[in-house]
Amino acid sequence: MSASPSPAPAARPTANAALASRWRDVMTDAFGTPRLPLVKGRGTRVWDAEGNEYLDFLGGIAVNALGHAHPAVVAAVSDQVASLGHVSNLFIAEPTVRLAERLLHLAGRRGRVYFSNSGAEANEAAFKIGRLTGRTHMVAATGGFHGRTMGALALTGQPAKQRPFLPLPGEVSHVPYGDAEALRAAVTPRTALLVLEPVQGENGVVVPPPGYLRAAREITAATGTLLVLDEIQTGVGRTGRWFAAEAEGVEADIVTLAKGLGGGLPIGATLAFGRAAELLTPGTHGSTFSGNPVVCAAALAVLDTIEQTGLLAHVTSMGRLLRHGLEVPGHPLVREVRGAGLLLGVVLAGGHAASVQRAAQARGLLVNAVAPDVVRLAPPLTVSDQEVGAFLAGFRAALSEMAPDEGRTAA
Ligand code: PLP
Repeated sequence: MSASPSPAPAARPTANAALASRWRDVMTDAFGTPRLPLVKGRGTRVWDAEGNEYLDFLGGIAVNALGHAHPAVVAAVSDQVASLGHVSNLFIAEPTVRLAERLLHLAGRRGRVYFSNSGAEANEAAFKIGRLTGRTHMVAATGGFHGRTMGALALTGQPAKQRPFLPLPGEVSHVPYGDAEALRAAVTPRTALLVLEPVQGENGVVVPPPGYLRAAREITAATGTLLVLDEIQTGVGRTGRWFAAEAEGVEADIVTLAKGLGGGLPIGATLAFGRAAELLTPGTHGSTFSGNPVVCAAALAVLDTIEQTGLLAHVTSMGRLLRHGLEVPGHPLVREVRGAGLLLGVVLAGGHAASVQRAAQARGLLVNAVAPDVVRLAPPLTVSDQEVGAFLAGFRAALSEMAPDEGRTAA
């Protein structure tokens, strides 16, 4: 009897592939399968499941303001969870009050804060405050992104994201971003609120013309409309200022924050001023986790560290260094670098962003193809000049790998 040949051993999946396969088996397909499992982070560096190291120039989509595992955040969260982890909105936790006081102090005005758990919820609260004015019409900008819950999605100016969920809470008009005359035509005394991002992050780091936010302020003041500035991506130092709208000296009626505020922990904040601050009354809104002391402690650690280590000035200088290194010497693929501080969009000729993202990752750099022709960079605010230098060398090499027509159809 001849022995039957034993089957060839199945190739063992790599650790990265194994985790991706487990993800595919149990997670909804809302995100597709993410491109890489990450298991550890320290500062601007992260490691995948096979021990490969990356420079993280995306920072959890502009979230990890102090990088990964910052000692101040680790200590604040550990201390708080060890003493009082959660109280619900039926009780008062001191870090919650302290964070609200701190945010209003940074805004330089009296007001009131509603805390939530994400950016979408921060905007959802703004939406409800808008409805409480008694008006229902709202104006937002085409291409704008304000989140995926139904109210926030109604404000989001991206029809493909809205279409499967129509009808959305109503009466939102979308106008071209950056066009003050379009705002003047759309905002009327029937308009409850106008919501704008100071820079449209998810739309490809789109910067409006100078004076746009000032015009929005004048127009809304004239019609008694609340001006809501969505600083979820641009706030908390990302552009080198606490709030990006400071660059135009504009004070909104409502400012929404999330992302960088918690330094990696989930928190949203809706800062309301003037009459907008008085519209939420008991029973009109809420969330069990609103103002959870652990995430508030993390946010306080983020704000303290930004202040105590001079990070706002650091962001401005690292942003300049990064931008300069991308613009000079130019690269034939780079059309433009736009944005502010450490929120930059590298605009590429010919829809190469997805290919550049892949080539950069193969070189140990994490970036994000936020649009077919735009690579977004949002490193931690703590990024060092050596890290910027290492990134620039690798990113230029990744750009140089692109064949002239590569990536045209990739995205
Ligand atoms: N608003 C802006 C400007 C954003 O960039 C985002 C997220 O990218 C959101 C709102 C939604 O935030 P979240 O994803 O935390 O719900």
